[in-house]
Parts: sequence; structure tokens; C-alpha cells
Amino acid sequence: MTAIVWFRRDLRLHDHAALHAAALTGDPIIPIYILDDSLCRSAAVGDKRLYAYFAAIGEFANDLAQLGGRLLIRHGDPQQLLCQLVQETGANKLFFNRAYTPDARKRDESVSEVLKSHGVFVQSCKDLVMHEPEEIKTKQRTPYAVFTPYRRVWQTLPKEKPFPQSTKWQWDERLHELAGEPVPAVEAFGRKRPTGTEWESEQFGERAAHKRLQQFINGDILSYKEKRDMPGVNATSRLSFALNAGTLSIRTVYHRVLEVLMQARGEQVTSIEAFVAELIWREFYQQVLYFHPHTTNHAYLPQFEKVAWENREELFACWCQGETGYPIVDAAMKQLIETGWMHNRLRMITASFLTKDLLVDWRWGMAYFAQQLIDFDEAANIGGWQWSASTGTDAQPYFRIFNPVTQGEKFDPDGVFVKKYLPVLRKVPLQYIHKPWDMPEHIQEQAGCKIGFDYPIPCVDHAQRRKLAMALFQEAKDRHAKTE
Ligand SMILES: Cc1cc2nc3c(=O)[nH]c(=O)nc-3n(C[C@H](O)[C@H](O)[C@H](O)COP(=O)(O)OP(=O)(O)OC[C@H]3O[C@@H](n4cnc5c(N)ncnc54)[C@H](O)[C@@H]3O)c2cc1C
Repeated sequence: MTAIVWFRRDLRLHDHAALHAAALTGDPIIPIYILDDSLCRSAAVGDKRLYAYFAAIGEFANDLAQLGGRLLIRHGDPQQLLCQLVQETGANKLFFNRAYTPDARKRDESVSEVLKSHGVFVQSCKDLVMHEPEEIKTKQRTPYAVFTPYRRVWQTLPKEKPFPQSTKWQWDERLHELAGEPVPAVEAFGRKRPTGTEWESEQFGERAAHKRLQQFINGDILSYKEKRDMPGVNATSRLSFALNAGTLSIRTVYHRVLEVLMQARGEQVTSIEAFVAELIWREFYQQVLYFHPHTTNHAYLPQFEKVAWENREELFACWCQGETGYPIVDAAMKQLIETGWMHNRLRMITASFLTKDLLVDWRWGMAYFAQQLIDFDEAANIGGWQWSASTGTDAQPYFRIFNPVTQGEKFDPDGVFVKKYLPVLRKVPLQYIHKPWDMPEHIQEQAGCKIGFDYPIPCVDHAQRRKLAMALFQEAKDRHAKTE
């Protein structure tokens, strides 16, 4: 009797539902990770994102090795490889944690079906979320379309505790003899390895994830509400990679946060509650995608499926490279390029700018984020983009259009963030930091920043584009109404 545990976006040993369930059987375990080579070669996945995942796989493989185990790594089609492994080892059980995106669900259903037909016991487990999409529905048994009532129900449901840590797993004795591939390296897929201490592979493993959680719990969580929107302060948890690669369990995060909440007073309580709300947003978007799989590439709101986007390639390129001439947008895009992560407030500003100022289809921006973000999550990315483009579940109408100057002034009042990622603006006086084009010539000279030469002239006029965006959205709505 042998149990296979198929690891995917859950690269950890602690508080792992499928591993726990497999251990309970008492059978020896074979842990496997299956790599999709075509995805590793695809331009849709950027070098940094691939690197971060490989680093997490490597750290996990090391952790298993330290316990006398091994992460069996194979490349190819999961269904074929799992059937093959069953034949090779006579394994009679398969455990994995459930995924909720349309493609992953299809894959898991077909793998389960085929393995069951070979007499294998298949158990999928809840692990990625506190509450699965099917758990939270309205009284009419329909999915929630609005966050606030969803959140209310989410909060009232009983919560699973983290799984107790097994002190010793029993590995299958053939584990070390089975043919497997080494931990993948990005170079093998023609990619560049990022350099710098922040890219050391330990940063992407389970230990680093726990350390980051502990640091956040010890400090920034208590002032999260006040500081979470300030990219220059950097007071958010930075747990998104760990939650998406599964180097940290959501149960562990939630229960650690709850412990802090018990001790908190006054403003601290609202801060912690604001953080929990973000964890709920994560699950809200999972369920939106689960119940509306078409939103991977279509507007949630049908009236905005056919907005007449301009889709000018040269403006899209300016945005991608952080050369729009609007400092808060450009600094954010540079942060994304350099670090593979972007602050949430900036994701909203840059997405609004792309769709409402540059009039570029949200699907273009969504694909660019998917390529660049190391914390890419399909549901959160779709949710965030559709929210920003006003095509999604958000109750706010399309005329919410962020002004990149006032957003910069409000959320980066000292220009700390902008100056960090746009060193050319370092000597620009504060009054001009978010609108450097207003600098008189002599100040441009003093600041060593000539507009149109050292830093771009704004690529569009915000006030004009705002009007145009409103007209395009209204037109799409009217056109849709006529066809109804
Ligand atoms: C256009 C756009 C695209 C986005 N793409 C992604 C993505 O691909 N992957 C991703 O994980 N998040 C995405 N987000 C959500 C959010 O920006 C990130 O989760 C957050 O910035 C991660 O930083 P943090 O861990 O410090 O967040 P914190 O503020 O510390 O939040 C804690 C956790 O809550 C979750 N969370 C926070 N905000 C959101 C949100 N709005 N939606 C869903 N979950 C949230 C994340 O898991 C996050 O790690 C996107 C948002 C927008 C507006």
C-alpha cells in the first residue's frame, strides 16, 4: 500500500491538508511534483515568476530531503505521469489539494477519473482557502456577486484549525530509486536568473514564509489600516507569493492573526480586521472565477464586453516600461519590472491608468501582470483587473477613474516611493514630484531633470482621456442595451 501526494501550489510540509490525510492512512508516501514544460517555455510566464516558483520547489525538495524523503520531480502530462507512477510502484491512493480555476479543475477531474478507473483511491482536500466557493451562497443558493454580504457569511462560518504537525512521515522505501529529474533551473528553459540577495532561493521557501508572517504579526499588522495604502511605507504583509505558491497555509495565517486579534485594543482591532478583509477578498475572487469561468477572458458585466478600446501599441509599450510621464504610474511599473511585485494601491492606479487613460483593453494589462508578477494568481488578477476596468463585480460605476496626480499626492505625499524607482526625479521639488511637467525651465535645470529629455512628457492628457473613457463606456452600455 502506497499513497502518492501530488504537490502543486502547496509547496510546504506544515499544515498541509493532503499530506496530513495521506499520513493518516499510515501508508508509505511518495511526494511528487509534475512540471509542465510548455508553461515553463511560454512567454506568458516571465523569468522572475518562473524563477520564484523553481526556488520554492527547490526549498521544498531540500526540506523533504532533510527528513529523509525526496520530492520526485517529473516533467510532462499529470494524468499520464500519475498513471505511470501507479504502475511502477503499485500505489493505490492519490491525495492532492483542490484547485478552483477552470483549467486546474478540468485537469484534476480527468486525472481523478482515470486513476479511479485504475482502482486507485483518490482524495482531494480543501487547503487553498478557508471556505470553498460552494460553501458560501445566498439563501437562493446562488453565488454572491457583492463582496460585503459574502464577507459577512464568510466571517460567521466555523473555521478549520491548522493540521497538527506530524513528527515523522513514512516515505516509500523505493522513493530514492525512482527515476526523477533534478530541481529545475530557469537557465534550462532559456531564462535569466535574477541576481541580488532578495532573490536567494531561501527567500521563497517555507521557512522564509513563516518568518515573514511572524514579522508582520509582530509589527505592521497593528497599523495596517492606516499604512496599507502607502507604497513608500511598505507596511503590507508581502505574503502573496507564499499564499500563492502555498509555502504558507491560509489556515496558519488566519489563526495566527486571530491570536493577535484577541490581544488587540482600539485601532489595532480595526487594523487586524482590515487585514482579514483582504484574506476574504482573496477567497471572494476565487469564487467569482469558480462560478463565472468565462471571466478569465470576458467581462463579468456583459454591457462592457465590447468597449471600443483604442489599443494603441505604443501607449501600451510606454505603460509596460514605466515611461508614461506620470511618476506614480511609472514608478509602480518599474517596481513590477525590478521586483516582480507591486503594491496593491499601485496595481489599482496602474490598471485604472491603462484602461481609462490609455484606453487599452484590460486583458492586455492582465496578461502583462500575469507574466511579471511572482505572486500571480489567476482569480485575484482577473478580479483586480475587472475591478479596475469597471467590468467586474464591483458596485462602483465606470466613472471611478483614478487621477494619477492626486493619487500620487495622496498616497506618496513625500514622493519617497516615486524617487526610489525613478532616481531621475530625486532632486525634483516636492510640489512637482507628481506633476514634473509643471516645473519651470530653471527648476528643471536645477533638478537635473529636463522634461522630454531626462523624463518623458505625459503620453496623454488625463482630463481629456477621462472624458473619452466615460464616453466609450457609456457608448458600450447603450449599444448593449439596444441588443438586449
Ligand atoms: C489589477 C490587480 C491585479 C492583481 N493581481 C494579483 C495577483 O495576480 N495575485 C495576487 O495574489 N493578488 C493580486 N492582486 C491583489 C493585491 O494587489 C495583492 O494580493 C497584494 O498587493 C499582495 O501584497 P501583500 O501580500 O503585501 O498584501 P496584503 O495587503 O498584506 O494582503 C494580504 C493577502 O490578502 C490577499 N489580498 C490582498 N488584497 C487582495 C485583493 N485585492 N484581491 C485578492 N486578494 C487580495 C493576498 O493573498 C495578500 O497576500 C491584484 C490587484 C489588482 C488591483
